[in-house]
Amino acid sequence: MAEDLYQLLGVSRGASEDEIKKAYRKLARKYHPDVNPGNKAAEEKFKQVSAAFEVLSNSEKRKLYDEFGADAAKLGYDPKKAEAYRAYRDAAARGGGPPGGGYPGGMPDVEGFDLGDLFGELFRNRRAGGAGGAGIEDLFGGEVEGPARGEDLHAQVRLSLREAVTGTERSLSITRPGRCPKCKGSGHFGKPGTCPTCKGSGKIRQGRGPLSMTSTCPTCGGSGKVAPPCDRCGGSGRVEETTRVTVKIPPGVQTGSQVRVAGQGAAGTQGGPPGDLFLEVQVEPHPVVRREGDDLYVPLPVTVPEAMLGAEVRAPTFTGEVTVTVPPHSQSGRKLRLKGQGVPALKGNGRGDLYYELRVQVPEKTTPEVKAAAETLGRGYQHDVRADLRL
Ligand SMILES: [Zn+2]
Ligand SMILES: [Zn+2]
Repeated sequence: MAEDLYQLLGVSRGASEDEIKKAYRKLARKYHPDVNPGNKAAEEKFKQVSAAFEVLSNSEKRKLYDEFGADAAKLGYDPKKAEAYRAYRDAAARGGGPPGGGYPGGMPDVEGFDLGDLFGELFRNRRAGGAGGAGIEDLFGGEVEGPARGEDLHAQVRLSLREAVTGTERSLSITRPGRCPKCKGSGHFGKPGTCPTCKGSGKIRQGRGPLSMTSTCPTCGGSGKVAPPCDRCGGSGRVEETTRVTVKIPPGVQTGSQVRVAGQGAAGTQGGPPGDLFLEVQVEPHPVVRREGDDLYVPLPVTVPEAMLGAEVRAPTFTGEVTVTVPPHSQSGRKLRLKGQGVPALKGNGRGDLYYELRVQVPEKTTPEVKAAAETLGRGYQHDVRADLRL
């Protein structure tokens, strides 16, 4: 479990944001549940890689991870807790007592100081439920977690160029912390009793010693009464769920575009609002069409007579066929512009253009008749066609 996050992503500790992002994208694509349906090992790997990315792509979390390693997770990547732990560690290293004094259960040796002991109880409580979270709250001067917004989640979608141009809809399978169905996300279920956090007063003291202050108890919201922790979610108000989410991808996205799906991230804890889901778009290269910004380039084969004499030809676009006028005397490579038939701008309401690039094709068969015609054609060149070719 305690695998190094850098190793998980296969990057060095000094990796740049960009390198981390690239490594993550590659792995996420490889292990994505949509690509590996029913493969538990891949799903597990996908979760680990995503979790590693969530930490290493966030400069604040990454800093804490660099300082505390796996213990940073036990600190919840909370700078305040990190600070408290640092202060405790430093005080212990100096041989003095812990700041503020009075750790329950006496003063552990700094070598043997295991964050797991200190925070384990809180986290076990959060995950598995049950009373007894008060210990940790005392430890941190009455700091109590109330409802909190759920985490943002990230997922990848691969689109064809056509889908990127026209927009599309995707149904994604997402595993996330979801709202607990039993307690409806509140974290409490059953008959209300005296709130264990504030002992019924509705207020709690925050901070230690002279800096302490009183505020409304977040557990009961000040009422002093609260139902016992829900046994289904352990009081957090959320349980893991795998669900399908249908998302609309607007036209005009390109590789690297992020589509935000509001409220489809992790559920909030104890009734907090959910996070958002961010889709990272990857557009597959098209075998024929080239995209440059919002312009599209489509090769358009024409016959020798069409190129020479001009013609009206039918040509495809992503949204249907159009008639294109090939002017007489068109050379191979000539670009014919279809204004506004390119990619819609993602922001604003402009559109790029579509260019047909003419490719003059000679006949596949050279019958005596065609050969004679070609020889006649040959006499139509008044200059050496390669006269201007210089390298
Ligand atoms: Zn619940
Ligand atoms: Zn309370």
